[in-house]
Amino acid sequence: MKASIALVAFLLLSLSTTVVAQRRKATVDLIIRGGTVVTMDGSRRVIDKGGVAIHNGRILAVGKIADIDRNYAAPEVINAGGKVVIPGLINGHTHVPMTLFRGIADDLDLQEWLTKYIFPAEAKNVTEDFVRVGARLGLAEMIRSGTTTYCDMYYFEDAIADETSKAGMRGVLGETVIDFPVADNKTYDEGLAYTERFINKWRGNALIVPAIAPHAPYTVSEEHLKAARALSDKTGAPIVIHISETKREVDDSIKAKGASPVDYLNRIGFLNDRVIAAHMVWPTTDELGLLKKLGVGIVHNPQSNMKLASGVAPVPEMLKENLPVGLGTDGAASNNDLNLWEEIDTTAKLHKLISKDPKVVTAEEAFEMATIRGARALHLEKEIGSIEKGKRADLVVVDLDDLNQTPFYNIYSDLVYATKSDDVRTVIIEGRVVMRDRRLLTLNEQTIKADAHRYREQIIKSIGVKTVPE
Ligand SMILES: [Zn+2]
Repeated sequence: MKASIALVAFLLLSLSTTVVAQRRKATVDLIIRGGTVVTMDGSRRVIDKGGVAIHNGRILAVGKIADIDRNYAAPEVINAGGKVVIPGLINGHTHVPMTLFRGIADDLDLQEWLTKYIFPAEAKNVTEDFVRVGARLGLAEMIRSGTTTYCDMYYFEDAIADETSKAGMRGVLGETVIDFPVADNKTYDEGLAYTERFINKWRGNALIVPAIAPHAPYTVSEEHLKAARALSDKTGAPIVIHISETKREVDDSIKAKGASPVDYLNRIGFLNDRVIAAHMVWPTTDELGLLKKLGVGIVHNPQSNMKLASGVAPVPEMLKENLPVGLGTDGAASNNDLNLWEEIDTTAKLHKLISKDPKVVTAEEAFEMATIRGARALHLEKEIGSIEKGKRADLVVVDLDDLNQTPFYNIYSDLVYATKSDDVRTVIIEGRVVMRDRRLLTLNEQTIKADAHRYREQIIKSIGVKTVPE
């Protein structure tokens, strides 16, 4: 009798502990398990045999897989064993529909390229449908190469936001305003009114941060720049702008306004910690100090700057001063792809060559610029850029055993100098799988290509593009 009471007590006890253990295991939406997790958090933790629990679009936990397994269960599990899990890459500067102009004119200087080819091609072709087709092409290309956030400036940005949100991609999307008639708005005032409606429509969206994008200090008047600043103050929307891209821009600014682009924009009260400045190739040391003090985000576009021979931005100096500097591809007409891995690799090499010092811009620093430092450049470091509890679940699973990655010694060396965009396997944005095992789930590659070919014919006719072979 005593023995049977003990047995019943034992059974009850073990049953209750099982129930307690099961209760403690929380059900989450998605778990990534088994990979090397490169967190890019404050202490740069790299977790071997790690795991990430994702719920409601956010990272709920990151740690050793044993700890994740003990505490969480999910209906969907991605096996990342033998692979690497990284924060989604951040492309800090694009003009996404320009994918349709990829390769229409190369090997020209900026002025000739812009005035003889790009501006006329845009005037004759850009419509809302063009922008949607080009955006879908760019979004597919970016997701395929592991980009989860991009910062854009173009026309019909409301349509781009719609395509971006449908693709499940994250974007800081700036409607371009400029002092001449463009495809979607004929005057600056119309452009700004469109931008205000656009901001009010998308503000608070989980994926889209609507922004104002005055093209550059040399294409937008002082009065209009101040109006853009006022709209940003009123709505809290960021401002995206090209600044100090070429030496000629700086010289012309000094001649016309008695100040460099950075000094001029500071003088008129335009710069602050909501500004995202693309290029910044020609700042002085004093200007870098000013940009740091004001909290201006900077986006370095090495391949575009090389292709248009614009110059080399002082990135080692920016890193030494701990400026928020990220990486961008720029539009596909001046790159000619939207592959951020190439920008990471180029950044780590270009600055060594130009400074004749192989110690500048280490692999880890270059990777940081595509992730957490890139998030700082977009003023989104509290939300994205690293794999940390509470942040948005933007993650990429990358292969680690391709021939070009074999054998393996150091994760940053591998990611920066050896990994290629083809090694990207699975992409998750806001907790949603948008590419699984290299198959896009939110975009149709075949339709995108067919639509792009249709525009190719139209563009060739519109400005007489010389094709090879004819
Ligand atoms: Zn640009």
